Amino acid sequence: VSSRGCRRLRSSQIRDLLDTKHCVLFDCDGVIWNGEKAVVGAPEVVSLLKKRGKNVFFVTNNCTRPRESYVQKFSRLGFKGVGQNEILSSAYCSALYLRDVAKVQGKVFVIGGDGMYKELRQAGIPFVGGESDAAGVTISDCPLDSDIKAVLVGYDDKLNFMKLAKACCYLRNPECLFLATDTDPWHPLREGRVIPGSGSLTAALETATDRKATVIGKPSRFMFECIASQFAVDPARSLMVGDRLKTDVLFGASCGVDTVLTLTGVSTLEEAQSYRDSHAPEEQAFVPDYVVDTIADFLPALED
Ligand code: PLP
Ligand code: CA
Repeated sequence: VSSRGCRRLRSSQIRDLLDTKHCVLFDCDGVIWNGEKAVVGAPEVVSLLKKRGKNVFFVTNNCTRPRESYVQKFSRLGFKGVGQNEILSSAYCSALYLRDVAKVQGKVFVIGGDGMYKELRQAGIPFVGGESDAAGVTISDCPLDSDIKAVLVGYDDKLNFMKLAKACCYLRNPECLFLATDTDPWHPLREGRVIPGSGSLTAALETATDRKATVIGKPSRFMFECIASQFAVDPARSLMVGDRLKTDVLFGASCGVDTVLTLTGVSTLEEAQSYRDSHAPEEQAFVPDYVVDTIADFLPALED
């Protein structure tokens, strides 16, 4: 049984750890807020980290909002002075990928919503999406757009069978790119309710097309590359704080960044320990370096 990873951090250790870091990456839901409620102490932690000269970034797989709406949410929840350039969402990074990496020439067929549409529009990417099922029209007699060069799938609470069927038709063309904002399986709501995440829609398309989507959000490294291309960040001097082992901790591990699991979200200490104690080598990437109950545990180390 290995003893590495999952180290519970005490205040003095947090101070020593932060002294070695110049950049802190925070996942959003389950770490700094839960839905519309800030995690107690999170706004202070973010402010104090910045006051100490740390670069702070927010890395979220939630593709349902454009970055300007995150700026408003930060402010509404009591976080002061968080700007767009500190926020990396899977919708924004998908638009950057299509524009700067894939350099897609043509239109993108989108399964998603307003957050994705806005980011694509701002990046100047032509797209189609947002159609509803027209009564009586089936996939056999609906027109397909010959200019579609990519399918982007994300969270879509207006998903319908026609959208899935169209996406499948476009993906028959092996030259048509297949992108997913993220592969999050589900998300917790209040009182034990859950919603299926983008990953469950991606899985439907992967099954139907026998193809694998290129994933933009965590755990893919692309969001870190987006930060690194704009700011001087050294992975060895960065820290990733997340609540989901298979998303955030794997992301940090893949980017060479130390990871902190915070217990205010999805994953539990027991899951982290069972990955640590597992004999499957591929599960070691889910083991966080450190564990805290909440990021408010950073406060004593930041206050004088
Ligand atoms: N995607 C959707 C649709 C969500 O509702 C959420 C969380 O609420 C997420 C993704 C996960 O976001 P994060 O990466 O900030 O935890
Ligand atoms: Ca999260």
